[in-house]
Amino acid sequence: MERLLLKNGLIVTMNANNKVISQGNVLVEDGKIVKVGKDITEKVDIVIDCSDQVVFPGFICAHTHLYSALLRGAPLLIDPPTDFTQNLQRIWWTMDEALTLEDAYTSALYAVYELALNGVTAYLDTYSGPNSIEGSLDRISKATQDVGIRGAICFESTERRSHEEGIRGLEENQRFISHNNPEKTLVHGIYCLHASFTVSDELIHKTVEYAAKTDSFKTIHTSEGLADLHHNLEKYGKRTVERLYDEGFLGPKTALAHAVHINEHEIDLIAETRTNVAHNPKSNELNAVGVAQLPEMLQKGINIGVGNDGFIYDAIENMRTAYLMHKLNHRNPSQLPTPLQVVQMITINAAQAIGLKEQIGSIEIGKAADFTILDTSVLPTPIHENNVFGHLVYGSFSRRDVKRVIVNGKTIVKNGIHASLDATMVSQQSIYSAISLWERLDLTPRIARQI
Ligand SMILES: [Zn+2]
Repeated sequence: MERLLLKNGLIVTMNANNKVISQGNVLVEDGKIVKVGKDITEKVDIVIDCSDQVVFPGFICAHTHLYSALLRGAPLLIDPPTDFTQNLQRIWWTMDEALTLEDAYTSALYAVYELALNGVTAYLDTYSGPNSIEGSLDRISKATQDVGIRGAICFESTERRSHEEGIRGLEENQRFISHNNPEKTLVHGIYCLHASFTVSDELIHKTVEYAAKTDSFKTIHTSEGLADLHHNLEKYGKRTVERLYDEGFLGPKTALAHAVHINEHEIDLIAETRTNVAHNPKSNELNAVGVAQLPEMLQKGINIGVGNDGFIYDAIENMRTAYLMHKLNHRNPSQLPTPLQVVQMITINAAQAIGLKEQIGSIEIGKAADFTILDTSVLPTPIHENNVFGHLVYGSFSRRDVKRVIVNGKTIVKNGIHASLDATMVSQQSIYSAISLWERLDLTPRIARQI
């Protein structure tokens, strides 16, 4: 049995009382938290001195697309999209059709590595590659385990090209879930549908049925752009969340990504079913889809995690945008969320929004020893129990202050350096894949038509 002690840190537990302990200690045995408090006297194997450091539960990204790493800086020779649907058709769907299984691995390795350096210890990813479905989740799982953080992963099942392809996506999720034991590995499978405007009721039913069999978590993009809402109104006479409710997709083991174009009735349905929401503020800005009704959802008690939707892997930056966006939108500096609420959205609430609330998200006895430790040695003002959330939100910290990242009691990042992976190797593999992908994209007739 290995015992590890985090000693003398400012411990931000994110427990039910949001307790913060100054000069606190955390005792870890075999990767699990066994004691939290000031007086810990047990003999240990390893002591990590956390003086002048703040210890958070590991940060969590509630929604991402790891493969997006390969698109950074790509020479997109297309007419610039003027709405979200064009964005999907001209950029994302063109790209995902060209992805290979090798791309799934190299992009995940780079993106997960970057998440880890940013203090992220768990994420939920949805992969989309209609020509690289079978086996894709094994590649993403391998990359995640190579880095050493947790992943809830899935293939984004869609019928945008054919019903048969939708079933193949569903079956890839089923295959991965049935072959992976989440108790034994850092990575586990969940179910995913792309969005309600690219799937039939039949595929929704099948996904609900499959997820129920294994009590699995599931997710779907929901009214990110107006196309989703208009499709459901025109074809089914219902709004997006109303249709998902009628088809039995909502519930505590479901996360809706975005939920931008929803009305009060839909917010009530999400609250009533205790469905989770993944808020992606920076992506919403990038795609100019609109502003989610975060304050209204918070007031109804909806659980919300913050994700990056594949854009900007810095958890602190995403959290800060979630904090600011709604104040600007309402022209009210006291509008929700509060600093505490946004920190919850990248820790305990994000854990719930990816289906792992019992395992991670807070520093409590019995949970996995996942920590993100930030350096406080050069702050401009004192930091203590009562102002630590304000320090995080108001700019005292950035990704550069991530001193140490621990998963299951094991240090995977220290002073910006990964314990086992070489940055150049990770980058070179990604660059090799990107060059090859960009060449394939330039040769794709569909791209040529858009030039
Ligand atoms: Zn997304």
